[in-house]
Amino acid sequence: MKLSYIAFGSNLNYPALQLLKAFHALSVLTSTTIIGESKIYCSEPIGPAGQDNYYNAVVSIQTTLSAHELLDCLQSIELQQDRVRSVKWGPRTVDLDILWYDDRVIQTERLTIPHQEIMHRSFVVYPLLSLDVNWVLSGESLQEIARTLDANSLFVIAENFKDLAQIVSES
Ligand code: ATP
Ligand code: MG
Ligand code: MG
Repeated sequence: MKLSYIAFGSNLNYPALQLLKAFHALSVLTSTTIIGESKIYCSEPIGPAGQDNYYNAVVSIQTTLSAHELLDCLQSIELQQDRVRSVKWGPRTVDLDILWYDDRVIQTERLTIPHQEIMHRSFVVYPLLSLDVNWVLSGESLQEIARTLDANSLFVIAENFKDLAQIVSES
């Protein structure tokens, strides 16, 4: 069993629903068990201007899939949810990135692990802290990295996916 962390992001076609759908797809994924979930956040977009705000979360899993098999599965969930790649960092129904896989450093054409943008993204670092993750990246703890990031435009919108489902069902 390998421990892995997956970042979720969405800002198209009812982001809360997209996150819930992807969470469900991950929960039924072969050889994989969800073991933890962060709070759910709303964040301002990076990348091209004029996009809607994002919903973000991080989920930890145990899996017997290899990192590349896991990437295949995540990309097929993205496709099931009509993810279209047009502009880099442009609007998307769902983005599922592997942040971490079994303490491994992987550098292939398809996969960079740990994910190379973690330390620049408050919408990844704060969810990780809400999961009590204590990685050290380039000699800095996540707490130290968090202090360098602007979290002014980051809001908690649900304590977990169950609460998110409740909020969606009441709206
Ligand atoms: P970013 O990776 O900066 O968050 P993005 O998620 O918008 O950008 P995508 O369009 O989802 O980028 O993916 C582009 C490519 O990134 C994918 O085809 C995939 O092969 C590659 N990739 C490299 N490392 C990872 C990783 N750790 N998790 C997911 N995809 C990765
Ligand atoms: Mg991404
Ligand atoms: Mg991606």
